Amino acid sequence: MSKPRVLIVEDEADIRRFVRMSLEREGMSVFEAADAAQGRVECSTRQPDLVIVDLGLPDEDGKALIRDLRGWSRTPVVVLSARDRESEKVEALNLGADDYLTKPFGVPELIARVKAQLRRASFVSVAGTGDATVQFGEIRVNLATYEVTRAGAPVHLTPTEFRLLAALIRGYGKVLTYRQLLLDVWGPTYVDRPQYLRVYMAGIRQKLEEDPARPKFLITELQVGYRLTGLESKGQ
Ligand code: CA
Repeated sequence: MSKPRVLIVEDEADIRRFVRMSLEREGMSVFEAADAAQGRVECSTRQPDLVIVDLGLPDEDGKALIRDLRGWSRTPVVVLSARDRESEKVEALNLGADDYLTKPFGVPELIARVKAQLRRASFVSVAGTGDATVQFGEIRVNLATYEVTRAGAPVHLTPTEFRLLAALIRGYGKVLTYRQLLLDVWGPTYVDRPQYLRVYMAGIRQKLEEDPARPKFLITELQVGYRLTGLESKGQ
């Protein structure tokens, strides 16, 4: 496999250098842009496998760049945001960003988030091969027949629980915001009711997770939403 190519769009030179050094040590090629305008150019010319976007850019809001990118590219986008801009992070995810890093962040977290998105992108590219079955841990889900088993034994999910699980599977590895999940599963009139999600997520975890209080697959992203991890790649 060729070296993964990562573009970082960030105006602070120290952070760019920190990200570049950390990712190069992992065998990735890193390109830099100091503002949104340069980010657009680099993104279209370098065709990166992943883009890291700071939300506070000098020429434009990083969210505008993400909205533009999503118009023509499916490249994974990881947002960099300061802790006091929580709502902006959620907006960026709603615009199509896949994950986020909150400043200040450490090397292990940066690498884990970047690698997870690169893996997800290669998973998505081998998905859609006609096999409707996905597996995580002992759980198998057939998206076509709605069958769910755990260690071979059937698990009964309600129709709403199944729709929520299917939405998480479709967005595998991404952080899905409350709004995105409510819109997808319940529809536009329910986007302000995150309590629905909490109730149904608890129900699904009860049925699928070994320890529902410490989920391995159905992960909470505090104040933001949920993420499904641990799906086993098809074609392996
Ligand atoms: Ca900045």
